[in-house]
Amino acid sequence: MSEISERLIYLDHGATTPMRDEVLASMMPFLKESFGNPSSIYMLAQEARNAVEDSRRTISRIIGARSSEITFTSGGTESDNAAIKGGAMAMRQLGNHIITTSIEHHAVLHTCHQMEQFGFEVTYLPVDCFGMVSPLDVAEAITDETVLVSIMVANNEIGTIQPISEISDQIRKISDVKGRTILFHVDAVQAVGHIEVDVNNLMVDMLSMSAHKFHGPRGIGALYIKRGTPFEPLLMGGGQERQRRSGTENVPSIVGMGEALRLAAEEMESEYTRLQYLRDKIIEGLSSTVGGTQLNGHPEQRLPNNVNISFPGIEGEPILLGLDLAGICASSGSACSSASLEPSHVLLAIGRSAEEAQGTLRITLGRDNGEHDVDYLLQILPELVERLRAMPHLNEFN
Ligand code: PLP
Repeated sequence: MSEISERLIYLDHGATTPMRDEVLASMMPFLKESFGNPSSIYMLAQEARNAVEDSRRTISRIIGARSSEITFTSGGTESDNAAIKGGAMAMRQLGNHIITTSIEHHAVLHTCHQMEQFGFEVTYLPVDCFGMVSPLDVAEAITDETVLVSIMVANNEIGTIQPISEISDQIRKISDVKGRTILFHVDAVQAVGHIEVDVNNLMVDMLSMSAHKFHGPRGIGALYIKRGTPFEPLLMGGGQERQRRSGTENVPSIVGMGEALRLAAEEMESEYTRLQYLRDKIIEGLSSTVGGTQLNGHPEQRLPNNVNISFPGIEGEPILLGLDLAGICASSGSACSSASLEPSHVLLAIGRSAEEAQGTLRITLGRDNGEHDVDYLLQILPELVERLRAMPHLNEFN
């Protein structure tokens, strides 16, 4: 390797993003002097209440919702759990069937497995080789027992963006014909703050988001619940968040989430174009210099910051270690699936073999990355892959 970067090059924004300075600044007063509990009635507490409601208004405006339709949660995982459990449990008199896909985040998949233990039946729809769900498959899977459909807007590993409004259309048509409600939840954790997300265009009943994916704090998220949607709260207690999510509000993080989304929405258009250019430069650069590379995910309908590439013949872990030594942080799949050595369920679902899935690298760009980072990656990575391919003992699949 001819050059070692003097700074860390963070290319793992799909896992989490660094908090912006403006976001931290917006949170500071609520971590210190404005510490009141928003449910108390004195002025100190009202400052906190007002800040929570300001953030709620900001978030609702950006996604086209009413502010009363936003419930703050502890993040994407809780939002997904609350939507699936809360929606299906509220509808259980009407049926016991849930539809989802085989490429969802584990926050959805494991929740659906748990719902099976509670007596629900779950259909896990397949996807095509680009990771696309077919709206007609969704329509065909709906039965007289179906109460909820949960499909992600954009995949966290391969970046594929689903045709959500077409899927909504199919669900609405069947729901009208059958004269019964079918709730539609979308996991928009990887989409919000990166691509336009409008609940009216998407025509969904519930939508999950998480602040740490768009330069906000970790441990805070929100669930959009359309007015009138049947919903059983996951957490019972003091009745905060209009009885939908009890627990004293995490005021500093709620404020930070609103500020992070406001900034992300302001910059979205220019960032989209800039990141898409860098993304395509990486894809083209690697495809032309490293033999046998395979792009995973849809070539066009994908997140502007996502590159997911398989390098047949080598394992992902040595690539990550080699990149780490060169000062580059990346991922071999989603953050949680890289903690286990199981091949990614998403890559298997799009038809990759276990070996191909093991030799996969995910690069997710962010607002701090520039062309110099991409050039450095393109200088380091092909050489690294070549060296690893020359060391067969590192690449024994077992
Ligand atoms: N859903 C998707 C698509 C994700 O990518 C993630 C996080 O990686 C989650 C849900 C979980 O979000 P959180 O980390 O905020 O719990």
